[in-house]
Amino acid sequence: MRTTTVHLLHAGYVRAGGRVGGSVTLVRDGHVLIVADPGMVAARSAILDPLAALGVAPEAVTHVFLSHHHPDHTVNIALFPNAEVVDFWARYKDDLWLDHDGDGYALSPRTRLWLTPGHTEEDASLIIEADDATYALTHLWWKGDRTPIVDPLAWDQGAIERGRARIVTAVDVVIPGHGAPFRVGGQGAAALPAPYDMERPRR
Ligand SMILES: [Zn+2]
Repeated sequence: MRTTTVHLLHAGYVRAGGRVGGSVTLVRDGHVLIVADPGMVAARSAILDPLAALGVAPEAVTHVFLSHHHPDHTVNIALFPNAEVVDFWARYKDDLWLDHDGDGYALSPRTRLWLTPGHTEEDASLIIEADDATYALTHLWWKGDRTPIVDPLAWDQGAIERGRARIVTAVDVVIPGHGAPFRVGGQGAAALPAPYDMERPRR
């Protein structure tokens, strides 16, 4: 049986004095290892130590997912030299710039990229049908208490609202861009588009 798990490596924050940390997450889906948003942290050990505790070497990470392009979510991409980087638009590996399917693109059998513009025009979320719950890794929310309701940096607040509505009906747990996970009243995998168990060819 396939094992799919989600591990929050670093809960992000926004604090007075210019301290900004991004939420950094590891997704295991079988042998696929995805690090989401390896961005700003107080020291790189804040990403690497929890990863090591899970038995994952940086070289073993197969994918880096970017929710968007702001530095607080991207500055540590290069910690993962063998990873294919995936954003809302494309896939990037060494000097290859490759297309993907856009909304609904499967990074692995139980993960999907959703296009969720609003914070920026280039925002995406990662939806994971894990063994214990269905998760969304997304910057549609900043913090675990769901504040700020109105994103002060929003490119399009209406698009944020539409993205939030889509996600809360589909998932159980949201990991926001700068905070701890929170639960939403989703319908779990039943609301997700099929087929979720389809094995895709490996690259
Ligand atoms: Zn951010």
